[in-house]
Amino acid sequence: MSEIAAIRGMSDILPDETPRWQFLERTVASVLAAYGYGEIRLPVVEKTALFKRSIGEVTDIVEKEMYTFDDRNGDSMALRPEGTAGCVRAAIQQGILNTPRRLWYTGPMFRYERPQKGRQRQFHQTGVESFGVATPDMDAELIVLCARLWRRLGLTDCVELQINSIGNAEARKAYRDALVDYLQGHLDALDEDSQRRLHSNPLRILDSKSPQTQAILDGGPTLTDFLDEEANTDFARLCELLDAAGVAYVVNRRLVRGLDYYNKTVFEWVTDRLGAQGTVCAGGRYDGLVKQLGGKPTPAVGFAMGMERLVLLLAEQGVVADAATVDVYVVAVGSDAELMALVSTERVREENPRLRIMQHAGGGSFKSQMKKADKSGARVALIWGEDEVAAHAVTIKSLREGDGERLEQSTVPLGELDSTLCAALAP
Ligand code: ATP
Ligand code: MG
Repeated sequence: MSEIAAIRGMSDILPDETPRWQFLERTVASVLAAYGYGEIRLPVVEKTALFKRSIGEVTDIVEKEMYTFDDRNGDSMALRPEGTAGCVRAAIQQGILNTPRRLWYTGPMFRYERPQKGRQRQFHQTGVESFGVATPDMDAELIVLCARLWRRLGLTDCVELQINSIGNAEARKAYRDALVDYLQGHLDALDEDSQRRLHSNPLRILDSKSPQTQAILDGGPTLTDFLDEEANTDFARLCELLDAAGVAYVVNRRLVRGLDYYNKTVFEWVTDRLGAQGTVCAGGRYDGLVKQLGGKPTPAVGFAMGMERLVLLLAEQGVVADAATVDVYVVAVGSDAELMALVSTERVREENPRLRIMQHAGGGSFKSQMKKADKSGARVALIWGEDEVAAHAVTIKSLREGDGERLEQSTVPLGELDSTLCAALAP
């Protein structure tokens, strides 16, 4: 029979990669806890209408990247392509927006994109959302929180913060009209994507990677000139706060986001170490979205980071979390030895809950079991054979060079097992 393979762009994450994921997830959770954010867990499937209404009908995500299907009742559902819409939906529905709320979530997201390094069809985001505060001190908090996370992950030197203000909806509309007017005069020189976006989502053209398109934009109107007083004041205050906190940033006046709901502050953390997929974290303010989804008007700001890209960056930077998953490997030859080993290993686990002990299963010779012990990455083997069973003792053998001086191999009475083991594993 032929094998069934995974769906393109949806990867398995294997045990030799998961330590890095766990390190990232642990660190993210601990930094968010340090700022008082609460975790919210959300469904992976939502009504398609939720994403159409929040992300925007003519965005890339809704137009061509969303996984939608009709359920058995004929209602249109979607695998969530991002987390903000569901988080806002839940916050409204559960009535938790009456006071300022700081929330975060993590999990898989789905977009039908062309898979490549740092771009998958099932990928993972951790998102952070703050509701109820309209002032830029909140924007600053989210950004310094990110900066702290990069420090804790050892990534500060390879990410750069870019910020911009895209103002309110009227400013963007006026700018959009001016931009479309201007670009219409240069239509033939624009790259293909930008030509297509000129009428559907012209602000996205600012993102274009084409140097020729960028050169054309140089001669056109800038969004900054259209911003209202409030957007300018808030942006200046954000810069002041970031300066005071010692967080470096680059003002990128062409920075826009691909989702419709943003206003005022937008930001991205980018790296040059991952090729084309350089944005590891992106977000901004979305003061209109709660109302747009049927809630009481509530200002909001948030961001999402791409966990695959951060894991790639950790690997690229040589940040390795403890790769070994086992401290002790238990070898037992013969059926009495197996039994003694099971009972005494359970006791050791009881007394030392943090020790990672793998007990050999499936029998086999001493030699073949020791081979498995060596391969396991454990530092110490506990050996049970006929002699040990008869003597109510166990043999402890060091498996790594360097530990050798402290302990090569010795047989100790059962009563001394714990203390000998602790001594053998002491750092
Ligand atoms: P991009 O321009 O790279 O497509 P985006 O603007 O579509 O990103 P957002 O919707 O803002 O991305 O999502 C936030 C973050 O999630 C991105 O900065 C990125 O790190 C990550 N991300 C988005 N799409 C993918 C994907 N298909 N695979 C892996 N990570 C992704
Ligand atoms: Mg995208």
